[in-house]
Formats: sequence, structure tokens, C-alpha cells
Amino acid sequence: MTMTVEKNLNTVREKIDNAARQWGRTGDDVQLIAVTKHKSDEDIQELLDVGHRLFGENRVQEAYEHWQARKDSGLYPDLQLHLIGPLQSNKVKDAVGLFDVIETVDREKLARKLSTVMQDAGIYLPYFIQVNTGEEEQKAGIAPRELSDFLGFCRNECVLNIVGLMCIPPVDDSHALHFALLHKLAKEHGLKQLSMGMSADYEKAIAHGATYVRIGSGLFGV
Ligand SMILES: *Cc1c(COP(=O)(O)O)cnc(C)c1O
Repeated sequence: MTMTVEKNLNTVREKIDNAARQWGRTGDDVQLIAVTKHKSDEDIQELLDVGHRLFGENRVQEAYEHWQARKDSGLYPDLQLHLIGPLQSNKVKDAVGLFDVIETVDREKLARKLSTVMQDAGIYLPYFIQVNTGEEEQKAGIAPRELSDFLGFCRNECVLNIVGLMCIPPVDDSHALHFALLHKLAKEHGLKQLSMGMSADYEKAIAHGATYVRIGSGLFGV
């Protein structure tokens, strides 16, 4: 079990490198977020022990259980934790205290709350806006046509440091189309970071400019 996670990490890194080079980029342009939701403590520790430091969680409570003690221990000063799941307004305070990057800013109420909490706490994080590229009703994210206004709101009214965009394409659609759309939106708005691509499609996402890929099952199995 343990050996597998490290082996998978090396395999995924190699594939990231190859995909990046194929598109005239380098592996260093693409950061690997290890997604540790529903994962065991042993699995998480194994990645830390081989030096991996960039992780993603999609729920604040579970992230707290996985990471708070490890952060407090001071053993991993370069640990980077991304929130990649929906954030409820009543969890904002906890999230700002725990995460290093929040990728899922997607509505005015949340942006306002982040702004208040951030200024109270004196913690200034980088943020991504989640875009609902497939405009799916059940999915979080701002609609593509609303992005310009929302970005302006986040920057001007809320003083949030928005650095990039994030998306989760519809399951049944061509993911490449959604990656291309997110890339285009980021370019139009001068945003450098693109969080897109999961275990099944990260090489495609890299072809379309992903700077962060989010990998769970590809590292830990399903
Ligand atoms: C779980 C999750 C992932 C990882 O998915 P895998 O298919 O297991 O790689 C990536 N992004 C988000 C937002 C997730 O919730």
C-alpha cells in the first residue's frame, strides 16, 4: 500500500513533465495538487515523507482533521493547502485560518465575507474564481458571461487578490472544450493561474495551459 503512493506520485509527475514538454512548457510550469479528501492518515503522511507539500481538500472540516495538527507542528513550513470545494459563508473564518489558497470564490456574498474576515484577521490569501464552464445547475461556479463583472466586484469592492480561475468540466462533455474556454477567459482577464484537470484528464488540461492539476485517485487509487 505505502510503496504504491510514492510510485504513483513519480508516475504522475513523469506524465506531467512529458505533457508539459509536448506543449513547449516545462514540468515546473505545472503544480501537482495531491487531493487528500477521504484519504487515510497513512497515505497523507507517506506523501509528506517523500517531500510532497502541495495538497487540496474539498471540505473545511475534513481539511481541519487532516491538516491542522500538522500545520501547528511546524514540521512542514512550506506546506501549501488549497481549498478546492464549495465554501459556505459560515465556514469562511475557519477556511481563511487553515488554507493557503482558496480556489472556489463564486458569488458576491462569499467574496464579501472573505473580504471582511480577511481584513479582521490580517490574512491576505491568493484566490481563484471557480467558473461553471458547463453552466450546470447543480455545480458551483460563476457563469462565464458573469465573470468580468464578478472579477471587478472581487477586486474593487472586496480587495481580493484574484490570481486565477478554476473549473470542473461536465462529466459527459469533451473536457478539452472546457479547458480551452477557461484558458481563454483567463487570458482575456489577465489571470495567470489555471486550476484544471483531475486524474482522468490532467494531460489534456496541461495541453490547454493548466498551471495546477488536482489529482486524487491517480495517486491513492479509488
Ligand atoms: C476529488 C477532487 C479532485 C480529484 O479527483 P480525482 O479524479 O480523484 O483525481 C479534483 N478536484 C476536485 C474539485 C475534487 O473534488
